Amino acid sequence: MKRKIIILGCLLLLLFGVCILLFQISKSRTFQFFGEIYPRVETQQKVVALTFDDGPTRKHTDEILGILREENVKATFYLVGSAIEENQGETEKIIQEGHEIGNHTYHHKRMILVSPDVVKNEIETTDELIKKAGYKGDITFRPPFGKKLFALPFYLSEHNRNTITWDVDPETFVEKSEDIIKYTLKNTKNGSIILLHVAYDSRAESMKSVRPIIKNLREKGFEFKTVSELLSIKN
Ligand SMILES: [Zn+2]
Repeated sequence: MKRKIIILGCLLLLLFGVCILLFQISKSRTFQFFGEIYPRVETQQKVVALTFDDGPTRKHTDEILGILREENVKATFYLVGSAIEENQGETEKIIQEGHEIGNHTYHHKRMILVSPDVVKNEIETTDELIKKAGYKGDITFRPPFGKKLFALPFYLSEHNRNTITWDVDPETFVEKSEDIIKYTLKNTKNGSIILLHVAYDSRAESMKSVRPIIKNLREKGFEFKTVSELLSIKN
């Protein structure tokens, strides 16, 4: 009896350990079970990619596009399918300004413990909407919340698609614009992928940070690339 309890205890402990491990892997920015994942690219060149997640939204697309136009920067927008559908015009504006568009799923849900069918649907519906808006380039993929486990990386790997995460995410650690700028400048290195959200009212501090981040990184000698350009440098 005692032995049975010990064995059961060990099994439960093991199961708990496996769960913790899978949880860590599901949110890892640098590892997944299948295919390529890029939190940044390895390069000697002073290049960096500015990426914006979520949206598009009617309220804030013009503002971010205006800043990027004035600063002459091409960025990468990871757009959500349902928002593209609602804001077709904003999507077209982003494309017309020459920015890169990435796929950020249709529903923006955590893509763990989901079926292959759900994955296929989330990605392919969004691809179609991006193309329908007139986008012609490669479409990289970024998982909502950076979460993935089995089915998502498997689909992406089978379709030769890269998973793009990030290595500089100031909003995870700080809130105020001056801190977002400071954090970004301190942590950006060659080949970094910077993640910001500017599509919603709650992200005003991030929006305020975009121009100073661009100006300061330029002063440090960095050049801005889209994610695909960054990947091609690496390759
Ligand atoms: Zn997102």
